[in-house]
Amino acid sequence: MKVHEYQAKEFFAHYGLPVDSPILCRTVDECVDAYHRLGSGRVVVKAQVHTGGRGKAGGVKLAASEEEVRKVASDILGMTIKGYVVDRVLVTEAVNIDKEYYVSILIDRKSKSPLMMLSRAGGMDIEQVAKETPEKIEKIVIDPLIGMADFQARAAAYKLFDDKAVVKQAIPLFKNLYRLFMEKDASLAEINPLVLTKEGQLKAIDAKMTFDNNALYRHPDVAELNEPTEDEKKELYAKSKGFSYVNLGGNIGCMVNGAGLAMATMDMIKLYGGNPANFLDIGGSSNPEKIVDAMNLLMSDQHVKVILINIFGGITRCDDVAKGLLEAFKSIKTDMPIVIRLTGTNAEEGRRLLQNSHFIVATTMADAGHKAVEAMNNL
Ligand code: GDP
Ligand code: MN
Repeated sequence: MKVHEYQAKEFFAHYGLPVDSPILCRTVDECVDAYHRLGSGRVVVKAQVHTGGRGKAGGVKLAASEEEVRKVASDILGMTIKGYVVDRVLVTEAVNIDKEYYVSILIDRKSKSPLMMLSRAGGMDIEQVAKETPEKIEKIVIDPLIGMADFQARAAAYKLFDDKAVVKQAIPLFKNLYRLFMEKDASLAEINPLVLTKEGQLKAIDAKMTFDNNALYRHPDVAELNEPTEDEKKELYAKSKGFSYVNLGGNIGCMVNGAGLAMATMDMIKLYGGNPANFLDIGGSSNPEKIVDAMNLLMSDQHVKVILINIFGGITRCDDVAKGLLEAFKSIKTDMPIVIRLTGTNAEEGRRLLQNSHFIVATTMADAGHKAVEAMNNL
C-alpha cells in the first residue's frame, strides 16, 4: 500500500527523522495562506500523488513570492502525473541544497533480509544511475534478528559522507529509518533526496513509504491512509464478499466456482478468440445472494458486455444452482447476453430449469467458450 509524501513525512517526524513541517493544501488560496504562515520567503510547492518522478513532470516547483506561489500552485493543482490527478499539494520551506543523496530500505528477496541502499548520486536521476552506473549504489544487508547495529549505521554513513560532523548526524538518522521500516511493516522507506544543506544539516526533503498489505491489520494508523484506485476498490469489495477477483481488462465477464475452473474458463475464452474481463472465483456454494453480489461486481465494470457463468455442481446440486440463478435474476435487471454452463450433480435437471429463460445454456466447456465469444461478436 502506498502513502503520500506528507503522510510518510509524518511517520518520519514521529521517528525523529529530520523533516520540515510542510502544510497540506487543496486550493491555490490555501497555498498562498501557507506561504505567509511559513514566512520563509522561499517555498516549494509539491504535487501529492501516488507516483514518483513528480519533479521531472513539473509537479515540484520553487516559489519566492505570493504571485509565484499563486502561479505554480494553479499550474500543479489539477495537473495529471502518470495518470494521477493532483488534488493536493504540499507547501514547504525551501532548503538551500548543497548536495543530494539517496537512502532507502527495502526487503531484499535474495538475502531474505532488509537491505539498505545508499548513493552519493541521489536526486531525480537515480533510476538512470541504477541502470547505467550501478556501482554508484551501495548495498548493506541488515540481519533482521540483530537489527541495524551501530557499526553498520556508521559504515553506511561513511559510504555517503566524508565529514565526521555529518556522519554523526547520519548514524541516528539511519537507525531511526530502520526502526520505522521494521515497526510499521513497511516494504519500502526511501529518502530521495536526503540533502546536505549549505548550513551543514541533513534533511529528508522527500519521503516515500510503501507498506505490506498483509500486515495492515496490525497497523490501523497506516491502514486508514489507504486510498484505493477504482480497480483496487473492486478487489476490496470482492474480498469483503469472500470472492477472489482480478480485473483483466477484457469484455467477457466470468463468474466461476473454483480457481482451477476459473483459469480453465479464461483459457477457453481466449481459445475462441475472446477476451476475459476478469478472473472471478465465487468459491464453494452458489446461493442467490452470492450470485447477486458477483453480478453487481461484474456489471460495475463498464467493459463487460457478455457474461459467462461456469458452475461445477459438486455437493451443491446443479438444479439448486439453477434455482438460485433464476431467483437471483429476478432482482438483476440487465439485457446483457448471459451464457451459463452447469456441470456435475443433477446437471441435466439444472439445464432444463434454465431452458425457457433469457440465458444462453451451454453444455460443455468448449460450447460455453464458443457461445460467449459468439454472443460478443454478435453485439
Ligand atoms: P520526486 O521528483 O517525485 O522524487 O520529488 P522530490 O521531492 O524528490 O523533488 C524533486 C527535486 O526537487 C529534488 O530532487 C530537489 O532537487 C528539488 N527540491 C525539492 N525540494 C526542494 C527545496 O526545498 N529546495 C530546492 N532548492 N530544491 C528542492
Ligand atoms: Mn524524490
